[in-house]
Amino acid sequence: MYKKLAKEAYNIQILGSIDSLLSWDLETRMPKAAIESRSEQQEFIATLIHKKETSTKYKKLLSSCIDFSSDKILDPHVSKEQIISLRDWKKNYLKAKKLPTSFIKTLTKTTSTAFPIWVNSKKKNDFSLFSPILEKIVELMKKKASLLGAQEHPYDALLDLYEPNMTVKKLEPLLGSLKTFLSSFVRSWKNAPTPFWLTQSFPLEKQKLFSQEILKRLPLDPSRLCIDEAEHPFTSSLHPTDVRITTRFQENYLLGNIFALLHEGGHALYDMNLPQEYFGTPVGEAISHGIHESQSRLWETCIGKSYSFWKYFYPILQQIFPNPFESISLSQFYQDIHQVEPSPIRIEADEVTYTLHIILRFEIEKALIENSCQVKDIPDLWRTKMQDLLGITPLTDKEGCLQDVHWASALFGYFPTYALGNLYAAQFFAAFQDANPTWKSSIEQGDLTLLGSWLRENIHAQGKRYTAEELVEKVTGKPLSTKAYESYLEEKYKHFKN
Ligand code: ZN
Repeated sequence: MYKKLAKEAYNIQILGSIDSLLSWDLETRMPKAAIESRSEQQEFIATLIHKKETSTKYKKLLSSCIDFSSDKILDPHVSKEQIISLRDWKKNYLKAKKLPTSFIKTLTKTTSTAFPIWVNSKKKNDFSLFSPILEKIVELMKKKASLLGAQEHPYDALLDLYEPNMTVKKLEPLLGSLKTFLSSFVRSWKNAPTPFWLTQSFPLEKQKLFSQEILKRLPLDPSRLCIDEAEHPFTSSLHPTDVRITTRFQENYLLGNIFALLHEGGHALYDMNLPQEYFGTPVGEAISHGIHESQSRLWETCIGKSYSFWKYFYPILQQIFPNPFESISLSQFYQDIHQVEPSPIRIEADEVTYTLHIILRFEIEKALIENSCQVKDIPDLWRTKMQDLLGITPLTDKEGCLQDVHWASALFGYFPTYALGNLYAAQFFAAFQDANPTWKSSIEQGDLTLLGSWLRENIHAQGKRYTAEELVEKVTGKPLSTKAYESYLEEKYKHFKN
């Protein structure tokens, strides 16, 4: 029976891959005029997937392998990995069944209407244009939370969609501790003057050359990778043999592409190294959005902002851009890329202030879902919280509560995974350093394979054999906490304190 079920699930996965390909194409190559025909294609596939996932045939196959109420495995011939998959399939099936097709349709329709309204409202810097549809979305999110059901807090049901098993009860102490640590860090911080080269113009052709140098060294398999450009860089994976990343080159922001490449490269590496033999089953998948984000942040910040990394790459950068870097020392450059500056825009935030932006969004989302605040309160609440957390007040809503697409896309519960990504990354990185005391010297020689192999073995190749909590314990010997992240920041930034 398991075989039949796995075949059906495999077919659903294939449809998912086709849908990812359509989305990737939409954001990279699709002609503008194709937008309507593309949404038709995607709606068709999404409906097909939902139908298959909730069909009587699928339920029959699933319930002949696992008992829905007791979780008991009924097929005696299944392996440990197959048991993990059965439990995950069951969880997802029950979840999908809780959301009626009519609800999914209303939600999809509302978000596709909301998107252009949000764009326009942001452009005109007018929250009142967006608030009526946002009110609808928040109502739908509350409905979704209640349909899915959560034992302690309604927000848990939304969190669980992106970070399985995470709850408000577990998340709040982590974010609370970060809030205290990061706010006081930011308040006590005095930047050196802004480096003049940060906004200098760098020819794109030469930026691309440097990008190639980094790519050559990242432990990515070029035969499984494709790279394009997109306004907001992202990674899309169809299969471990077909991983697509996008990056963005900006003439006046040299660092933009470098860190985007490392970030998306980290996501790509995870997807490429997932156990291919389990493709189409949960064990072949990534654990959670938070764990995925940890892989990108690890390469972007722990490595991309390390002295060792630049010890190898800075001379190459100097060679490609003698002006201005010939006259800037490595230690000066290293300090220059560690500016800490509270600013209103999340995606432009540095590695210290970034998590504070996430905490603000989590607090507002949670308040909306538990009814302790209303949509109309958001702009004021945003300004107050921004002042509390970062000591600044955005001058406009465009730079405040209208900046992100997430709420227009009904992605409530998603933001916390960014903060968790930073925590997981720092804790994994500390474990990697303990296991490889000579890591610095290999990176200084441009050898990034040591970390690549460690991540593959300990994290990527495990697929979804473990929950996020179990994996952290297994790899680092400790439960998730804010300690590693706080010491990572403290250790690094103490050198720049003046
Ligand atoms: Zn990411």
